[in-house]
Parts: sequence; structure tokens; C-alpha cells
Amino acid sequence: MENKNKEKDFWEEEYFYETMDSIESKEKLKTFHKGHDEDMNFNCKNCDKKISAHNKDWHAGLCDDCFNRLLSN
Ligand SMILES: [Zn+2]
Repeated sequence: MENKNKEKDFWEEEYFYETMDSIESKEKLKTFHKGHDEDMNFNCKNCDKKISAHNKDWHAGLCDDCFNRLLSN
């Protein structure tokens, strides 16, 4: 009888938003719900390509290409 369901609880939506809220402001959470191509008012920190507000806040300020490269490293 092992208790191995703790990881599952971590990703429950309520807990997720609670955690985000304590770390980041609600302003930032707004961009979480925006599309990858909305508000293309920023530039990729790496290649200077136009990026969205969503990418700026949630993809480390990188365009999708650079972000994916970062993840695969
Ligand atoms: Zn880039």
C-alpha cells in the first residue's frame, strides 16, 4: 500500500493557479490565456524575432524556435 499519488495532485488546476498566483502577479496570468500570436509587441531575446506577450511572459522572452531549442538542450 504505497502512497504515490502526490505528483498527480500537483497538476490539479486549482493548485496550479494558486501557485502561479503566489509567484507571479495576476497581470502576468492574463497573458497566459493569450494566444502565441497575440500582441506581437516584443522581440526575442535571442534572435530579435517578433514575439507575443505570451511568449515574453511564458517562454522566457524567446520566440517559439529559440524556446524549443532551449528545451531540447
Ligand atoms: Zn528567437
